[in-house]
Amino acid sequence: MTVQRAIVSLLLLAACVTLPCAPREAAAAAKSLGVVYSDGRDTEDVPLASLEKDSDELFVSAYDLARIFKATKFWNAGNRKLVLRIGNHRYMFTMDTRVVVVDETPVLLRLNVRYDRDAIMIPLEFITGILAPRMAEKISLDPERLLLSIGSPEYNVIAIEILDDKDGTRAVLTLTDELLYHIDSETPGILRLKIYGGRLDPPGFTLGEGKGLLNRVRAEQVEHDAYLFFDVKKTVRRYRVEFETAGAPEGAAGKSGAPRRLVLFLERGKLPEIPEVDFAGKKMVEMLDEGAKRKIIEPVRTIALDPGHGGPDIGKIGPSGAREKDLNLQIALMLRDRLMEELGIAVVMTRTEDVLVSFDQRVETANAAGAQLFLSIHCNGWFTGDAEGFEVIFLAPARTEDEARLARDENASATYESQAAGEDGGDDIDFILWDVVQNEYLNESSDLAEMIQREMSKTLGIRNRGVKQTGLRVLKGLAMPGVLIETAFLSNPKEEKLLLGAAFRERIVEGTIEAVRKFQNRYDETRAKPTVE
Ligand SMILES: [Zn+2]
Repeated sequence: MTVQRAIVSLLLLAACVTLPCAPREAAAAAKSLGVVYSDGRDTEDVPLASLEKDSDELFVSAYDLARIFKATKFWNAGNRKLVLRIGNHRYMFTMDTRVVVVDETPVLLRLNVRYDRDAIMIPLEFITGILAPRMAEKISLDPERLLLSIGSPEYNVIAIEILDDKDGTRAVLTLTDELLYHIDSETPGILRLKIYGGRLDPPGFTLGEGKGLLNRVRAEQVEHDAYLFFDVKKTVRRYRVEFETAGAPEGAAGKSGAPRRLVLFLERGKLPEIPEVDFAGKKMVEMLDEGAKRKIIEPVRTIALDPGHGGPDIGKIGPSGAREKDLNLQIALMLRDRLMEELGIAVVMTRTEDVLVSFDQRVETANAAGAQLFLSIHCNGWFTGDAEGFEVIFLAPARTEDEARLARDENASATYESQAAGEDGGDDIDFILWDVVQNEYLNESSDLAEMIQREMSKTLGIRNRGVKQTGLRVLKGLAMPGVLIETAFLSNPKEEKLLLGAAFRERIVEGTIEAVRKFQNRYDETRAKPTVE
């Protein structure tokens, strides 16, 4: 939505540069209302107009209003009256008056309902002041960000609390489920936490005043995911995000068990080394190893290469303007040619051009090609220019084999239930099921990540940040081992320069090829051994 809005504003701006635009018109057309539905309709932007010189009241057309609220419209040209039937009520407007007759009772708006360029325009106040209190569904309008939410989606991100002590500041989010998340920072001083499948009420998570290392918090709900933006102090030196399971209050159970607490830790410190290398993943893998019943080892015939970002999604931008999406693609194309030439492996690309490709499409391309490995190529970024090095990431698993089994069972039955009821299973269910699929490749993904990390540490000559794991959306749903390579920090001027040079990219490719070769050899070794069941 934000991107769409930005594009719309840009187009308008461009139009005004070439055409003699009246300033009032430009201002009027540039405003829009974001509408978020809970009935499965796509989030949309609806144009708003400001029609009165002395008022900043915004107007929405009766046509859009009727569509948004699924109203039945009646128009009487003779007496210039419009009737909208919404829910159990009837709202009658008379042109150029402030009167709205609700069923039999007249109510006054601040401004007249009026015509503008052949459209009937209704003050936005109608939605909040008159319509909302009479609707069975929850209607909320955030006047600052012009965001209208219709219906109350069942929230699964339910609370935020900020705690501060001598070690640092913690933002504690209460969730009803253990959802996947990803944290990154595209803008200096802002940490962006994305919660996949997260549903929250943005005003409840918007804190104008922070505490400790946190200046402010802002939340956004997009179609399927929730975003939290943490504006942090410059003195923050480290951060991490993790689920805190111990000490979760008992009894206050959510839909699928006790509430989970997702905690963002901001730590004070003087070390310029952020983000910290996260070795928590190792432990989980070891735990899974104990219970692992099967090892999936397949010869590598096809590799899916995934250059991150593309099109309007630029990714990170370096201090001298290098764009992550371009670098990712250049590296991936080079890697493709060398994989084919040197290892004779077929390669399928998730994109070969500067276009926007959804995560689902990327995964679909790899799965459809029956690839045995998935490599996603990215560049890293941080607030400050001093963060450096490369890291290799694989998808965060459920914490134990037991939890994975539990999730699998519960979600499988949920799918059957909704199928029986003729409903769409929904993204959230797919999401968890796919996560479980990826768990089966966890050992392989972790091995692959380590091999790449080891080989790259020989070729790259920059800091080795280790293997990490996180809830990366792009690796969700893959029916094969997959990893994401953060080649170097584009936010670091030295590493940006390296990334722009052919020699460094050559070394990335070299390290990756060597790792794939070793991964391949491991299969040959397994095959050479007599199999004992
Ligand atoms: Zn990226």
